[in-house]
Amino acid sequence: MTNQKLSILGSTGSIGRQALSLVDELGITVESLTAHRDTATLEQQVLRHRPRFVCVVDEKQAAGLKISLGHTSTKVLSGADGLCRLMEMDDSDTVLSSIVGIAGLRPTLCALERGRNVALANKETLVSAGGLVTGTAASNGCAILPVDSEHSAIFQCLQVAAEGQSLHRIFLTASGGPFFGYARDQLEAVTPEQALRHPNWVMGKKVTIDSATLMNKGLELIEAMWLFSVRASDIVITVHQQSIVHSMVEFRDHSVLAQLSQPDMRLPIQYALTWPRRLPCPVPPLDVHGMPALTFEKPDDATFRCLYAARRAAEKGGLAPCAANAANEVAVELFLEGRIGFLDNGELVCEAVEGCASGGADSLESILETDALTRQGIMSQYI
Ligand code: MG
Repeated sequence: MTNQKLSILGSTGSIGRQALSLVDELGITVESLTAHRDTATLEQQVLRHRPRFVCVVDEKQAAGLKISLGHTSTKVLSGADGLCRLMEMDDSDTVLSSIVGIAGLRPTLCALERGRNVALANKETLVSAGGLVTGTAASNGCAILPVDSEHSAIFQCLQVAAEGQSLHRIFLTASGGPFFGYARDQLEAVTPEQALRHPNWVMGKKVTIDSATLMNKGLELIEAMWLFSVRASDIVITVHQQSIVHSMVEFRDHSVLAQLSQPDMRLPIQYALTWPRRLPCPVPPLDVHGMPALTFEKPDDATFRCLYAARRAAEKGGLAPCAANAANEVAVELFLEGRIGFLDNGELVCEAVEGCASGGADSLESILETDALTRQGIMSQYI
């Protein structure tokens, strides 16, 4: 039991729902929950977990929820500003940041400014504003605990490293997504339905498309740079289709440690909530004799251009990762709406990275401006 108070930013999404499935067993009290507009799910969660506060970003949906929760003691806030107000009002120790995309940046910063430890599932915030987010965490004495399975694996491997044993390289594993081994001409006609069918992981739509384009791994490369203070050139991306080794770290003596488990997000979510302790978890044990042979292969970044573009953005630094992320967020939406092809996603991210002005990503204003300009630049081509 942990006696911990938890708030979840984005509780109706895949990560939020899985986190809520764990809290009772861990003895965690739910302090606040938030949703963008899915008040049907949020209402069920409120009745089940009785948080003190909820926030719904969509004002209309919030008004409806206020009425249906009128008989409870849960206070309903609304609007994007409500996410930050919630951090001022509630009494959480840990905030699970699981809003998808750059929309999660401002509330994550608010949580850190209020001294909360952040279990981070929103990789887009670190990609777009890594310096700002890690700097805010450091100046407020907060921990950022990775929820992304690969980064949790790296973090877990580093727990055993004694002081001064700095890591030398990271092997960041990628499932390869549903189209591993496809050539460009095979990818041209890929549909959103095909791209949404991930072979190993059950996840939200955005991250599932990102896994198919390999943008997810590109974002994770930049995420790892910020979380573990390494350079892009120190991170080797390897396609491991079985999704059992969740990443590896190499020390300077060339000893490599790996973390293995079933591909199930409940394990990294739980570890971020209970760290540094390990508690029993509902994820089934690994059957070492029943599992498939483990393979590791080079990714094809000439075909999967998102991966190439993300590495370019990582090397360029400054606002380039923010532009890459913004271009990708728009491209994923356009692809899901059937307005662009699968391969266009990579081209749009490449163009955004090459076209991005150099400059520091040190203020929230410059980051949000780059994000908005990149989106507008792409959308103006598709109206
Ligand atoms: Mg991941």
